[in-house]
Amino acid sequence: METIKEILMQAENAAILGHIRPDGDCVGSCLGLKNYLAATAPQLKVQVYLEEFPEAFRFLKGADEVSHEPEDGNVYDLCIVLDASDRERLGAFDGYFAHAGRTVCIDHHITNTGFAQTTHVCPERSATSEVLFTLMEEDAIDEAAAECLYMGIVHDTGVFKHSNTSGETMRIAGRLMEKGIPFSRIIDSTFYEKTYRQNQLLGRALMESVLFMNGFCIFSAFRQKTMEFYQADPKDFDGIIDQLRVTKGVECAIFLYETASSEYKVSMRSNKIVDVSKIAAYFGGGGHVRAAGCTMAGSVYDVLNNLSRHIEAQLLEAGVL
Ligand code: 5GP
Ligand code: MN
Repeated sequence: METIKEILMQAENAAILGHIRPDGDCVGSCLGLKNYLAATAPQLKVQVYLEEFPEAFRFLKGADEVSHEPEDGNVYDLCIVLDASDRERLGAFDGYFAHAGRTVCIDHHITNTGFAQTTHVCPERSATSEVLFTLMEEDAIDEAAAECLYMGIVHDTGVFKHSNTSGETMRIAGRLMEKGIPFSRIIDSTFYEKTYRQNQLLGRALMESVLFMNGFCIFSAFRQKTMEFYQADPKDFDGIIDQLRVTKGVECAIFLYETASSEYKVSMRSNKIVDVSKIAAYFGGGGHVRAAGCTMAGSVYDVLNNLSRHIEAQLLEAGVL
């Protein structure tokens, strides 16, 4: 198989795509690769396409040149997809993938479907940004690229605390720090800082959360009416699921928000036992063992009933229920 480097050498222009509702790792890996290529393959014309992403990520170099609209009709020699585990996750940018001469996907999701011509998936890596680091020549990573990759790792590890954080993750983060990046500021301004609206939504989600299955599970849900009241955007929900997960005694946390009438976006997290990637994949989504998501139809109670059956089966099998 050709190496990624060999594939890059053959292209004159490339599109970089992430996934819908881009998160920190998605934006960090896309811009990290763009900055790296600007330094190492200056002959290659690169355009990043991503849906609108949180304002807090705008400080990254190249963020202002990202195209948020899929309508330019450009066709690329090469399409590089980062952090997206299946083709549906490309959303409105799928056309660039469909028409590209060559497609490559670099990812860390165990549920990656292998939809690109060349797929490089490392499920043991915390973030796509971490996978990219292992494919790059370290000396050619400049400060701008390092900021992007570091931010990606920070977000997917929940600031180096989720179970996906390995010794290697820490060593790579350390090497990125040595590029001179403002690591404290990146963590504070992109991860911990919340807008007033985000804090209000977090408060409301926690206040209305419900424990079930003997306290092993917790859920909270936003219906469209509530989202309209707060003028909330899904980007405002970052962090809610993680706060639910750390409720004492909880093994599995579920957060839902209504995306259309009787359609819910589901986020799931587990602490030690439940494999939520299996459950998400069963319902057409995907993710990781301890963090996964999908979209489901029905009322909040339909969705919870359907998910509960799978969670309960896993807890019974593990002998904890
Ligand atoms: P989150 O709950 O933060 O949205 O997502 C957790 C993890 O599950 C992420 O790695 C994300 O990529 C994955 N994920 C969330 N929703 C979906 C989905 O609808 N489809 C797939 N394939 N993965 C998802
Ligand atoms: Mn990721």
